Amino acid sequence: MPDYASSIRKAALEAGRLHRDLAVQASVVRGAGRVDVFGSIVRLDVPLLFTKLDGLLGVYLREPSPGILITTQRPRNQQRFTAAHELGHHYLGHAPSLDDDDMLRRAPFQARKGDDLQEVEAEAFAAAYLLPRWLVDYHCERQDWTDDDLADPVNVYQLALRVGTSYQATVWTLHQYDVFDRKAASALAGVQVKKIKQKILRGYEPENYRGDVWLLTDRDADMRIEGGPQDLLVVRLPEHSGSGYLWRVQTIDGEALAVVADGREALDADGVGGPTLRQITAAARDRKSGELRLAEMRPWQPTKPLNVFKVSYSLEGAEAQGWFKDQRQQHRERLEAA
Ligand SMILES: [Zn+2]
Repeated sequence: MPDYASSIRKAALEAGRLHRDLAVQASVVRGAGRVDVFGSIVRLDVPLLFTKLDGLLGVYLREPSPGILITTQRPRNQQRFTAAHELGHHYLGHAPSLDDDDMLRRAPFQARKGDDLQEVEAEAFAAAYLLPRWLVDYHCERQDWTDDDLADPVNVYQLALRVGTSYQATVWTLHQYDVFDRKAASALAGVQVKKIKQKILRGYEPENYRGDVWLLTDRDADMRIEGGPQDLLVVRLPEHSGSGYLWRVQTIDGEALAVVADGREALDADGVGGPTLRQITAAARDRKSGELRLAEMRPWQPTKPLNVFKVSYSLEGAEAQGWFKDQRQQHRERLEAA
C-alpha cells in the first residue's frame, strides 16, 4: 500500500507553499474571506476554460502546454473545488487527469486502500488550498467560534459558505486540523444539508432546497457574500423593541432580492420589554450584485437609527461558458496575433 499519510502531508505543505508564493493570505484577509482559486490559476499562467464536459467535472491537460477545463454544469462551490483539485495536479507535477464525480465522493485526507495516489494528493491539496488552518482561525475569530462551536453542523455549514467549499469537505478538513475526532467527523458528515437549512429557516419553506442558506448576524456586518441565484439570506439581529427600535430594510434591489419571511422571538425567558431577536429572510431572484442594508430605528425618528447593518452580495453563481474573465483579453490577443 502506498504511503498515503506522507503524500497527504506533502500535498498540504505544497498548498501552503503556493499560498506564500502568491501572498494569498493577505488578499483573503483584505477581501471576501475566501481563497480566490481561479485567480491563483491565472497567476500561474495556466489557461482556465469553463465549458460543458459530459460526465466530467474537470480536466488537467499537459500537452502541448498545461491547461485546466472546468464544467459549467455544477454550482460555483463545486467549480471551485474542482479548480483547486486540477491546480493540485498542475502544481504537484502530476500526469494529465480526467476527473468525474468520484472526486467529490472521496473525503479529503481520508485515503482508502486501492485509491490512486495522484488523486489522493490532488484532493488533499484542494482541501488545504481552499481551507487552510489560518482561514479557519480567521473565521472563528470573526464569528467568536471555539472548536466546540464547530461541532454544530449549522456553524460548519456557515463556515463552508464563507470559504466557498462544500459542507462535507469542510467537515473532513476540520477533522484533519484536529478540531474534532473521527467519530464526530463521521457523525457531522452524515447530517443532511437540507436539515441544516431547515433549522436556520425556522419554519419558512422555500420552493426547493437547491440554494444555500446564509445565516447573517452582527458578526457579519460589512461582509461580502458570494452566492448563487437561488440562495436565501437570513438576517438575525437583536432588536431593542422595548425602547421602540425596530429593524427595517432600507436598501434591497427588488429584482435581485425579496423579503419572504419576517419574525421575532424573545431573547430571554422573561421577555417582556427586553430585547428581541428579529429574523428577516430574503430570497435571491436573479444573478445580481448589490447591497442589503437594514437600519434599527424608531418609526417616528427615521433619521436617527440606533444601528445599521449592511452586507454586499454577488449572486452570480456558477461561472458560465468561456475563458475565465481575467484571461479573456489575453486569449483574444493571442488569437489575433496568430
Ligand atoms: Zn484528479
